[in-house]
Amino acid sequence: MESVSEGLPKYSRISKLGIKYEKIANLHCFLFDKNGVPRYCIGPHWPFFVGLNSFFVILALLFIFVICPTVGDLDTFCGVIIFGFLIGSYTLAALVNPGICYNFSGDQEMEISNSLAAERYCERCEIVKNARTTHCDECGVCIDEYDHHCPWTSKCIGKNNLIFFYGFLIGLLCTFIFVIVTMSLKTRFEHK
Ligand SMILES: [Zn+2]
Ligand SMILES: [Zn+2]
Repeated sequence: MESVSEGLPKYSRISKLGIKYEKIANLHCFLFDKNGVPRYCIGPHWPFFVGLNSFFVILALLFIFVICPTVGDLDTFCGVIIFGFLIGSYTLAALVNPGICYNFSGDQEMEISNSLAAERYCERCEIVKNARTTHCDECGVCIDEYDHHCPWTSKCIGKNNLIFFYGFLIGLLCTFIFVIVTMSLKTRFEHK
């Protein structure tokens, strides 16, 4: 099944397992609510996300199963919590729909009542943007409460995934501190 709207390039299909997939501009979307708005999507820079997340998983396994046990149970417990938080928040920041603004209903009868609305009309997305909505050229869609486009999460950071992005930054800081403390404790124990 293929459909092409006049605005954004859009492609959708339903897999043999009955799972709907939709490509809206440069975003790969899956799991939709009843209005057809995607709950999750991954952006054009998805290889960065796969690469960095694999690195975090390998680092987590190395610390939790190899390095932390030489320091102690408490260190292993902290490692599980910190790496779990880092990988969880990073994955959510990368997968949650950042706030795609798009004419999901496909209604072409858009009323542009005044000049301000005309100024804020995005022809690509066929919507009147509000003050904090910005069209991202990389993702190819308008994002509600646009913060920035982050290649490391593969797509934009906006209204819905900003909280997870902050979680990811805090997770990064905690992981950095944890790695330094664990390595210094390990070195100290080895020289005892
Ligand atoms: Zn737009
Ligand atoms: Zn973007």
